[in-house]
Formats: sequence, C-alpha cells, structure tokens
Amino acid sequence: MCLTVIIIMKKKIEKINQLLIQHFGIPQKAKQLPDPLDTIIGTILSQNTNDQNSFKAYRNLKDNFKNWEEVAELKPAQIEKHIKVAGLGKQKSKAIFELLQSLKEKQNLISLNHIKKNSDAEILDELTSFNGVGIKTASCVLLFSLDRNICPVDTHVQRVLNRIGLVKTNNPERTFYEILNKIPEGTAHSFHTNLIRLGREFCKPTMPNCPQCPLLKICKYENKTKVIKSNYSKRDFMLLDNLN
Ligand code: SF4
Repeated sequence: MCLTVIIIMKKKIEKINQLLIQHFGIPQKAKQLPDPLDTIIGTILSQNTNDQNSFKAYRNLKDNFKNWEEVAELKPAQIEKHIKVAGLGKQKSKAIFELLQSLKEKQNLISLNHIKKNSDAEILDELTSFNGVGIKTASCVLLFSLDRNICPVDTHVQRVLNRIGLVKTNNPERTFYEILNKIPEGTAHSFHTNLIRLGREFCKPTMPNCPQCPLLKICKYENKTKVIKSNYSKRDFMLLDNLN
C-alpha cells in the first residue's frame, strides 16, 4: 500500500472518530488495565453472546476460584458448568482449558505477563498460536490490557466499516489488517468502542437507523434506510472495560 493511500485512510479514520465522539463522547477506559490473561479469557467468553452474559460467565470464574491456577486444575466439563450462561460452553471451556494447560506446559506459569515487552506483531503471533484464539481475541489483549493503538474488528466493526466504505472486505481479519497502523495515535480505544456502539444502536444488520446516524453524511452504503426507527436503545456496557 503506497504512502498516499495510507495518509488518506488515516484522515478518513480521524474524521469518523471525530463524528463518533461528537455523538457518543470519548468512551471511558478501565481505571486499571486488566491483566492480559483476564482479557483473553473474557474475550473467549464473549464470542457469539452479549456483554452482559459473558460478564456473568467471567464473574462466575473469578468469584468461584482464587486465581487462574485454580481454574487450570479443572476439567473442561467443570469449566463449562461455570460458563454456560455465555453459550457455546463446550467450545469455550475447551479453549480456556487448552490455553491454561499450554501456559502451564510452556512456561510452568499461568500468566501472560511476559508479552508486555513484545511488539504488537510478536504478541499477535504468540497469542494466535493458542487453539481457539484468533486475531480478534489477540487484538483485544493488545488494546484493552496493553493500551496499544490497535482496533479489534468484531462483527459490528466489520459491518460498519464496510458499509461506510472505509474498507471493502469480506471478513474481519482482512479489515483488521487493512486498518492496522493507520489509526491516528491514541485513538484506537475510542474508535473501536464507538464503532461497536454505532453497530449496536444504529447500524444494525437489518434496517439500520440511517436517518439518525452520526455517520450519515460520510456513509457510502447504497441501501440506507429512509424512515426513522422508533426503537432507539442505548447500549453502552462494554465487557472488556469492566474486567477488574
Ligand atoms: S448511515 Fe446507515 S448504513 Fe451508514 S453507518 Fe449509519 S446506520 Fe450504517
């Protein structure tokens, strides 16, 4: 990608971020950055469910066990019992079990603190080498636990960025790499969080609320909704800013 294209994309991202901040404000970050292991497990629990249910599952593990070493002593079926409220219990308990066992085997320590000194690319490589951990989960660790300027791409971010025309991709991983290193310094948390809010509250998969959308004037989506929806709802609880 040539320098001009990178500069143009950076400017577009800056504009989107400004419009989102004008509407939603600057999202609050957690007062204390959560431990990387907390974030990776929280993100595994968040797959295909809402933040409220994944938060309940996360709290079930944190409140019933002293630490992740204790959880590492459980079998997948026992982990599953505690996290079933988040759905996909078998798949998620297996991913958590395998992650904890891998850490125990590799370094005899249930911790991811060693990644803090590594570059973004090294961290993405290492975390995605664990079964059940993809680019989205690994990038959440970078953003939420290490405060790196990285924007994880979930289904909301993917849908919004394609509809407004910033990218033209058919999967979140490609979008992640398209915008990587093009987010103005220090803005990734706000950009990511407000895009999710926009996707939940306005740019829903069907019947997006275009007439009231804060990105209407820059959005290139061809099938914009023309009527104003009445069931506007505010949904601002964000799991990964509430793990402590
Ligand atoms: S104008 Fe419509 S399609 Fe475009 S981002 Fe807003 S809600 Fe989504």
